[in-house]
Amino acid sequence: MRRTRIATFALAMVATAALAGAQTAGPAPGESLSQSYRGSQARNVEYQKIAPFKVMDNVYYVGPGSVSVWLVPTSAGLILIDTAQEPYVDYVIDNIRKVGFDPKNIKYILLTHGHLDHFGGAAKIKALSGARIALTETDWNFMAMQQANAIKNGRNPKAGDEAPAKDMVIKEGDTITLGDTKIKVYVLPGHTPGSPAYEFTVYDNKKPYKGLVFGGPGPRNGVEGGTEFLKSIERLEKDFADVQVALNVHSFLNSYPYPNNMGILELRDVKAKNPNGPNPFINNALWRQWLKDAHAGAVKYIADEKAKAQKGQTN
Ligand SMILES: [Zn+2]
Repeated sequence: MRRTRIATFALAMVATAALAGAQTAGPAPGESLSQSYRGSQARNVEYQKIAPFKVMDNVYYVGPGSVSVWLVPTSAGLILIDTAQEPYVDYVIDNIRKVGFDPKNIKYILLTHGHLDHFGGAAKIKALSGARIALTETDWNFMAMQQANAIKNGRNPKAGDEAPAKDMVIKEGDTITLGDTKIKVYVLPGHTPGSPAYEFTVYDNKKPYKGLVFGGPGPRNGVEGGTEFLKSIERLEKDFADVQVALNVHSFLNSYPYPNNMGILELRDVKAKNPNGPNPFINNALWRQWLKDAHAGAVKYIADEKAKAQKGQTN
């Protein structure tokens, strides 16, 4: 018995090594650009360090390939939406400089939800800039609880990835104003218990468009979370069908990828090929199609979770 276990362990080690090799070898054949960043190259740190790029007059992508970090310059300083996590935080800070801004001018860090891949760098960037960090009460608590549970289970956060101390609490209906920019806050839970969404006017050649960061774009937490998520999607369908620029929290969304392989990095490349043509990030049809897919996906997720729960009961 003991020998079998050792043999299995050795085999598992070989498999892990092979997998690690595959992860750094380059994208798998047939996968899209966004899929590579989110999938096969997820742990390839150097590959993830893409160049920052401009999306709208007042929106820059400054994150690694898989996790969006949005920089919103205003007339009175900078707003950063999410921060990514280590080992990418210094790279994010550098990207802000590369697109021509001083990270010390960040006044607000708006978090999209209490998951580490989005908030990891918040404490470090706050220390550098003195920015206020904003999140909903529910997700502040959720973030702290997750960290406390991890520590209890012997997993301390990596240096630089600590959950930030509770700072600014935002709620449904709030408006965050900085200089000429107003960001409206909504709460659309389901991915986490209190995922906020941020709506603001984005500009292309000075022309205004409706932009939205939907903070929690995939269901989690079984039937309960799935049901909340479906409600959030229904609200988006009702009140936000007119979004023109969807600023996703990942370049490629896991739960419901953007239709026709049109993730953020693909749109970036379309824009680069035709810099004087129409801005491909302005795409209401893409957003509406995504909402449709997310709606169908949420219904399926709830059904699957119900079936799982039922199976658990009869076993
Ligand atoms: Zn998440």
